[in-house]
Amino acid sequence: RTWAQCGVSKKVLDILKRQGYEKPTPIQSQAIPAIMSGRDLIGIAKTGSGKTLAFVLPMLRHILDQPELEDTDGPISIIMAPTRELCMQIGKETRKFTKSLNLRVVCVYGGTGISEQIAELKRGAEIIVCTPGRMIDMLAANSGRVTNLRRVTYIVLDEADRMFDMGFEPQVMRIIDNVRPDRQTVMFSATFPRQMEALARRILTRPTEVQV
Ligand code: AMP
Repeated sequence: RTWAQCGVSKKVLDILKRQGYEKPTPIQSQAIPAIMSGRDLIGIAKTGSGKTLAFVLPMLRHILDQPELEDTDGPISIIMAPTRELCMQIGKETRKFTKSLNLRVVCVYGGTGISEQIAELKRGAEIIVCTPGRMIDMLAANSGRVTNLRRVTYIVLDEADRMFDMGFEPQVMRIIDNVRPDRQTVMFSATFPRQMEALARRILTRPTEVQV
């Protein structure tokens, strides 16, 4: 498959070329068309497979397709990841594309002061990349006036197995349970252990499964 066959826009295609990303990786060519078609997805893939762009590129399309993009009330997309390092890495990869599309990405993670992140979020963001615990703190900050989940329609759980190994399931569920049910949900994981199947059934609707 080519990038064009994956359904990416001309603008995004130009950035991919500029970055030297000649063609989609196997996980990208399987996952991107499925997510672009609006379906939920479980992707079994490790770091290094190109999984980040597999959920970022359809996310850009999802956001740009929103009819009321000008309305700045809260993010449209939430990406959850287990660690601050992974959040920063996802943020960096995403910003390569969002800059020229005029979309704002804010990273929200623990282990550092919250006030700077609050200030950033208050300026507005279409995309939040977060660790689940800090995101809960953020939703509670200033009596809920910093951000909200009302406009969220695209959710990603990245490295889901690691998030559960680290005990973040309650926080992940608390966030997801407060997002409208007609959202699109995408889950990436290096492994898919038994105990995650029940969770996947709870948060995903008739997901497509892809594995590399
Ligand atoms: P990831 O698995 O998402 O952490 O990506 C691993 C690395 O592959 C990152 O440094 C990406 O910038 C790079 N990458 C992602 N997609 C492609 C592609 N289609 N062609 C070449 N490199 C890519």
